[in-house]
Amino acid sequence: MSVTEELIQNRLRAVLQPKFDRAEFRLSEVGKCPRMRVMRVLGYEEQPPTEEDARYFERGHIAEAWVVQQYRRTYPRHTRAQMKVHTPYGTGHIDLWFPGKALIVEVKSVGRWSFDNAIPRDEHIAQVQAYLHFFRDHKGQRRADHAELVYVDMDTLRMRVFPVQYDPTQGEAIEKELEQLTRMANLGQLPPVTYFPDQEPCVTHTPQGVKRCPFWQHCHSETDPFDPLYSGKPDEEALQLIAQYREVKSKLDELEKSHKQATEPLRAKVTELQEALDAVYDRLGVDETIAPDGTTVKRTKVPGRLTWDLDSAEKAGVFTSEMKQALLPFAKQTGGYTRWTLKGGKR
Ligand code: SF4
Repeated sequence: MSVTEELIQNRLRAVLQPKFDRAEFRLSEVGKCPRMRVMRVLGYEEQPPTEEDARYFERGHIAEAWVVQQYRRTYPRHTRAQMKVHTPYGTGHIDLWFPGKALIVEVKSVGRWSFDNAIPRDEHIAQVQAYLHFFRDHKGQRRADHAELVYVDMDTLRMRVFPVQYDPTQGEAIEKELEQLTRMANLGQLPPVTYFPDQEPCVTHTPQGVKRCPFWQHCHSETDPFDPLYSGKPDEEALQLIAQYREVKSKLDELEKSHKQATEPLRAKVTELQEALDAVYDRLGVDETIAPDGTTVKRTKVPGRLTWDLDSAEKAGVFTSEMKQALLPFAKQTGGYTRWTLKGGKR
């Protein structure tokens, strides 16, 4: 093994060494599954992290160091990195605190797909709200009133920054939840399983495949807690309907699958021809052509629409209740619907 390889291997091993007191709740996990957090505090056995996890954690450290370094260069001695936040329930570490601006900076590294489709994540906003709520001086005054949640796309180094304003309602709700989880942990109790075994957060889809929560085996086993067949009180009518539903749904899924397989090559060809036409129209400087037989092919460039993720903005405290009130006349209410999920069993 080369010297460099050995160094990196040692570093990855060091990354996996536990840095936290296991008996405490971690503020970085506020917003994550409560059952998982209590199990960790109670020392339940968990799947040990792999080398792949170590690389993932290290990716986060690299992104954080990159952003922190820019602050240090531009504002020497004006910022503090890795500030500890103490609470009666556990500790947290703020990536960067800028006292002169009452600002906290939290850096997250993500892949290209998440960067474009899945940020900001609710649990990251909750983590930052927790820091804003608990980070106080000896007089109990909060040391920051706003934060920047920074996402770095590790494939391209693009960056998006989400402002987060302290929201006392959320801060208090976070504290209340931690109080409750501490009470449960002291009694050796666990919050109930409220997630499906094959969905987030019990499993995560990564570029390497599906990854299970390290505590999965303590929550899901052969018997599925969400399946009425295992509820202990099978209802005859429900069982019959489930059997019929499963059969019909299976047939429908199969038909849709074969329809998709049959149309896919044609769709691909249509896209290919559109791309070729696009190049020709660009060359001719036109948006429409008419063939001698009268066939007309018109191209219309439809601009992308700007949409607003108001749920996240509300959690980040930048979309206030006053703003919400002012926007109410423009609100449009869609009808609700019932979602049915069929899973497990023989199909
Ligand atoms: S498997 Fe699911 S319910 Fe269980 S601890 Fe993990 S995330 Fe929570």
